[in-house]
Amino acid sequence: MKTGIVKDWRYMEHDMGAFHVENPKRIEAIYRMVEKDISFPYTEIEPRLAKEKEIQMVHTSSYVNTIKETSGKGKMQLDPDTATSARSYEVALLAAGGLLKAIDLVMSGKIQNGFAIVRPPGHHAEASRAMGFCLFNNVAVGAEYLVNKYGIKRILVIDWDLHHGNGTQHSFYSRSDVLYFSTHQFPHYPGTGYWDEIGQDKGKGFTVNVPLSGGKTDEDYLFIFRKILAPIASDFKPEFILVSAGFDIYKADPLGGMQISEDGFGAFTSELMSVAHKFSKDRILFTLEGGYDLQGLSEGVKQVLLYLGGEGKKPQIGEDISPITEKELAPVFDTQKQFWKL
Ligand SMILES: [Zn+2]
Repeated sequence: MKTGIVKDWRYMEHDMGAFHVENPKRIEAIYRMVEKDISFPYTEIEPRLAKEKEIQMVHTSSYVNTIKETSGKGKMQLDPDTATSARSYEVALLAAGGLLKAIDLVMSGKIQNGFAIVRPPGHHAEASRAMGFCLFNNVAVGAEYLVNKYGIKRILVIDWDLHHGNGTQHSFYSRSDVLYFSTHQFPHYPGTGYWDEIGQDKGKGFTVNVPLSGGKTDEDYLFIFRKILAPIASDFKPEFILVSAGFDIYKADPLGGMQISEDGFGAFTSELMSVAHKFSKDRILFTLEGGYDLQGLSEGVKQVLLYLGGEGKKPQIGEDISPITEKELAPVFDTQKQFWKL
């Protein structure tokens, strides 16, 4: 079965409080949808705990200890919007470990693609700091694992979450083996991700930021994936693709101002799969980041899964972009032309 799904009810045990938008109900809504609506045969992946050493490929040992020390304790506030509960440390290890297990299955050829449906999310987590609902940076740990365990030389990380993945960007800012590509609302939390952040030293050109004002549609995102991401990918030739899949760009999301539809998520998946088909032997893994409208979240994940499993129905979405989008993308094109054939 070519598609793997990381699914484990223990992900509900990290709890920042019932009134927090990043709460266990998110994963519950998605898992109920999977059980009800995903009828194609898939490989259910039981996650493992990431080892401390694996987390330390991205995070400092003192930070890992700080999170470890919250084990068994009541609510500990780490930053204004991130907290731990008694089980958070273990669940965070399980989140990163879920992606690592999926990577092993892809690398051994048992699956081709998949989705790590995990929480807490990861892309804001910095080397030594919890941020924006994130404890450990799951996707950054996954990328390091691919480099260190499997000797993968070129990894493309695509982050379509509403927010900029500051932690992931900073993890690889001076490196040319992990290309970080992010679309995000700007200005918005966390404040990073302007188009002039392009990487440094050896990493120059290997960070691609596409900051966008609110209101962007399926068409706008498809245009960006086709006209900016695809040409860069065909130059970079990734051996493996990791996607930080946030569903807070959904039109009804309470935290975001984007206008993405359910069908949009399917169309984006189809675009990214065709990049994976051309360059990375179809190796592509999605990992859950944000998404706070439960209906949009589970419908969005469903569309991604249907495409991964080969059951997506190509929606009719054009490429017409508004003059505002065109104006916002101009500096991105100008900047990236120095590094890539755009
Ligand atoms: Zn987000």
